[in-house]
Amino acid sequence: MARDSRYDILFEPIQIGPVTSKNRFYQVPHCNGMGHRDPTALAVMRGVKAEGGWGVVCTEQVDFHPSAEITPYVELRLWDDKDIPMFARMMDHIHEHGALGGIELCHAGLGAANRYSRETPLGPVHLPVMDGLSEPTQARAMTRRDIQDFRRWHKDAALRAKTAGADIVYVYAGKYFSGLTHWLSHRYNYRDDEYGGCLNNRVRLLREVIADTKEAVGDKCGVVCRISIDDLTGEAGMRAEESIRIIEMLDDYPDAWDLTLSPWENDSQTSRFSSEGYQEPFVTGFKQVSKKPIIGTGRFTSPDTMVSQIKRGIIDMIGAARPSIADPFLPNKIYEGRIDDIRECIGCNICVSGDHLQYPMRCTQNPTMSEEWRRGWHPERIARKATSAKVLVVGAGPTGLEATLALGNRGYDVVLAEATRVLGGRVEKECQLPGLREWSRVRDYRKLQIQKMKNVSIYFESGLDASSILSFGFDHVALCTGAFWRKDAVARYHTVPIEIHGDMAILTPDDLMSDHRPPGHKVVLYDDDHYYMGGVLAELLVKQGYEVSLVTPAADVSHWTHKTMEQNRIQTRVLQCGITVVASHAVVSVARDHVVTQCIFTGSRKSIECDAIVMVTSRLPNDEVYLDLVARNGEWADSGISTVRAIGDAWAPATIATAVFEGHRYARELENPEFRGDHVPFRRETVELVAPELI
Ligand code: ADP
Ligand code: SF4
Repeated sequence: MARDSRYDILFEPIQIGPVTSKNRFYQVPHCNGMGHRDPTALAVMRGVKAEGGWGVVCTEQVDFHPSAEITPYVELRLWDDKDIPMFARMMDHIHEHGALGGIELCHAGLGAANRYSRETPLGPVHLPVMDGLSEPTQARAMTRRDIQDFRRWHKDAALRAKTAGADIVYVYAGKYFSGLTHWLSHRYNYRDDEYGGCLNNRVRLLREVIADTKEAVGDKCGVVCRISIDDLTGEAGMRAEESIRIIEMLDDYPDAWDLTLSPWENDSQTSRFSSEGYQEPFVTGFKQVSKKPIIGTGRFTSPDTMVSQIKRGIIDMIGAARPSIADPFLPNKIYEGRIDDIRECIGCNICVSGDHLQYPMRCTQNPTMSEEWRRGWHPERIARKATSAKVLVVGAGPTGLEATLALGNRGYDVVLAEATRVLGGRVEKECQLPGLREWSRVRDYRKLQIQKMKNVSIYFESGLDASSILSFGFDHVALCTGAFWRKDAVARYHTVPIEIHGDMAILTPDDLMSDHRPPGHKVVLYDDDHYYMGGVLAELLVKQGYEVSLVTPAADVSHWTHKTMEQNRIQTRVLQCGITVVASHAVVSVARDHVVTQCIFTGSRKSIECDAIVMVTSRLPNDEVYLDLVARNGEWADSGISTVRAIGDAWAPATIATAVFEGHRYARELENPEFRGDHVPFRRETVELVAPELI
């Protein structure tokens, strides 16, 4: 398909100092939970992005000195020459596909507790370490000597980055992950020497470090400054008015500006709270004061939005982290005129949880993310079928849709049978809840792809049982029949059912998503699930006129969403909606007209009158058909069946990301009848032991 000429502007080259990006697609630095623990997996992942057409592919934050390291988070380190090969490998993978490689040097300053190195944290003034973990440690105000050391460390690290083959070296003053951000802010930098106080003084260190970096590597590398432009705290913090001044003052120094919001939760907002291009109001105006290319982000997946921002003079380069995770081939797909094939990010921030929990990040939309080397999975290529087997996929939720798509791509003949009249399963229902509209992209992308396939047939209103499946004659049967929410309060706090009076109306998320509504007016929502569902349903009910009390054993609402950086916004919205939050309490019994709650610390009890209770607790697999088939395995051979598997939520309920992953894995491993074998099912790098004489 030919590219739409409207998008030509996206493929214009952009000069960044001594180097030139082949187009305007710029994968900005992003964390990934792999870092120095999984360097080859990381290198191959970045290489795949380059293959997908990104003009620039950057690392994540690279801690360049032991005086600022952020253990337990696993980022990259460039502490000395020993670390260079790790970076050289990554740069090689990036260069192989004609992209520029960027290395984001970072000294987290008072954001680093230095738990591993045990060095004293350093900042502009004496303040507690601010890494969100409330470590009982303070950063020391840097002396002039410390400042000289810091400048030298940065310069040495820049030289190491250049040796590793970097085309772009970052000076990082963004997101409060970098100490240089604190130096710019009057909230953190009220020193009384020439480096603090007034704006002129606060920008001094950043200017010096950019100049040092240019001097050290500017002959070969573009020097990009990533800078925070707003932290959304108004007068108290950083504001665009001041950031514009900073860029005006320093514009002669770097080769490009990469604009971010601070802290990270403002920069990477979820679709529940912000739509594509949400950073436009913040980045507007910077291009007018700068002669250098401006890189901006905003969860861009639509080429029209990208072109619009460029043509209207908002930004020059399309910065992207999440869109490049969900679809590493986004630029190539636009280039080739394959817009429908773009796997759009849904803005759920499951990827972010990987960094927060230190595992190789996963993506709801892209099941191959972080598995490029570990399992040898490529986002756009998959092995052709190995046999002429026919596969029956039962259930068209995210598991069944992804299994069907990947099997279809392998060339297998697939029949997808779905009990209802629609595709999407849980996604079809959940995307209708407040704020979750973009989650429909999980269904839409797969639906569109599957509908193009001649080897895939879809049957609606086909609720299958074991007998019907045995009568068909498929070689492989995948039961992707999902899960249902429990009514008995069993989850984390209660592992056995609680006492429930038969007259109390008990509803689950399944009921609410099927348009059943509680009787009466007062509702207790009991959330022992802790992800989005409790908060979303409380919001839904209150908007429909119910008086809602949200009871949870956790310390706050939707507690796990700290990992997706949404908790603050969710709790704010819940409170602003007028929902009563009863935190650190469990519902311990349900009477005819009230529930009894218990404080998880003191055990003290109180009653909440209500007309109904919504249980958002845990789910059970919908595995009846699977278990029937397993019980009738003596009949498989006569039916031509060689394998029957339950996958996704029907096997063990989890996230949509897990459902997509399990569906994909099923398709990749179809010919391997023993899916859970004795071997480690992926590759990993292990620590190389030092020679015995060095002990
Ligand atoms: P997952 O997250 O694992 O994909 P979902 O609950 O989203 O699970 O989707 C399960 C899908 O399976 C739903 O669309 C449901 O209608 C369908 N389904 C459940 N049981 C059957 C069955 N026996 N035959 C066909 N479809 C089924
Ligand atoms: Fe986007 Fe969610 Fe994938 Fe992250 S995990 S890239 S937010 S779809």
